[in-house]
Amino acid sequence: MNKLTLCDLHVHTNYSFDSSAEMERYAVAAIELGLAAICFTDHIDINSHRNTFATFRFDDRLREFQRVKSKYGGKITLLQGYEVGDPHLHPKETAFLRSLQPDMIIGSVHDSPLLDGIVSRREYERAYDKCVRIMAENGDYDVLGHVDVLRKWHDDYVEDTDYVYETLRRCAKRGKAIEINTSSMHRDGVPPMPAPDAVAEFAAAGGKYVTVNSDSHSCGTLGFKCAEIAAALPQEVRRCYFVAGKAVPID
Ligand SMILES: [Zn+2]
Ligand SMILES: [Zn+2]
Repeated sequence: MNKLTLCDLHVHTNYSFDSSAEMERYAVAAIELGLAAICFTDHIDINSHRNTFATFRFDDRLREFQRVKSKYGGKITLLQGYEVGDPHLHPKETAFLRSLQPDMIIGSVHDSPLLDGIVSRREYERAYDKCVRIMAENGDYDVLGHVDVLRKWHDDYVEDTDYVYETLRRCAKRGKAIEINTSSMHRDGVPPMPAPDAVAEFAAAGGKYVTVNSDSHSCGTLGFKCAEIAAALPQEVRRCYFVAGKAVPID
């Protein structure tokens, strides 16, 4: 088998509230790993827990990105975008982000307002699924982020597979890409998000593009399990990265 061209398109830097990793260190690490492209996707979340949009240093980040790109861009494709929480609830802010011409926006659900105050894990999981469905159908994003991230956060997670499958089918019908996020796999035996059976449903519904991402918050996890997952994708889907919001197929 030919060596896979690998990318990692969900990477948090010190411009995210929960990472202290520098872009330049990621670029060096990615080149050492032989990755073809990485995309910096820092958090934009506006909810009852935080508002990172209000304090985000957009200019500083773009300047730092350009500096790192001019230094390492000959060796690797460096891309930048955002991971936006509930983009459909924040159309003005999301339009502003688009005006900055990011390569890619990941649409995710983290702390959606509809989840506030839910204590029961099962109730929370089902409400989370609904939030993702609404976001998937209405949000402005390029890639649907970690559709079932509670698999990572709840060690006793119970998935409503039919519901998740249907969300992915609707995503496929909208012509959107999904990510397969490997960060759940740091715990033994936990599948990626979504799991292979759900990716197969996306593919069967006409879903075309997937990205395989580590969701790294530090350099040590860059590319985590991405080769393994990329090698086992359904034949109907293609991996891609995004440049200015346009999918570029890999391989
Ligand atoms: Zn996320
Ligand atoms: Zn993330």
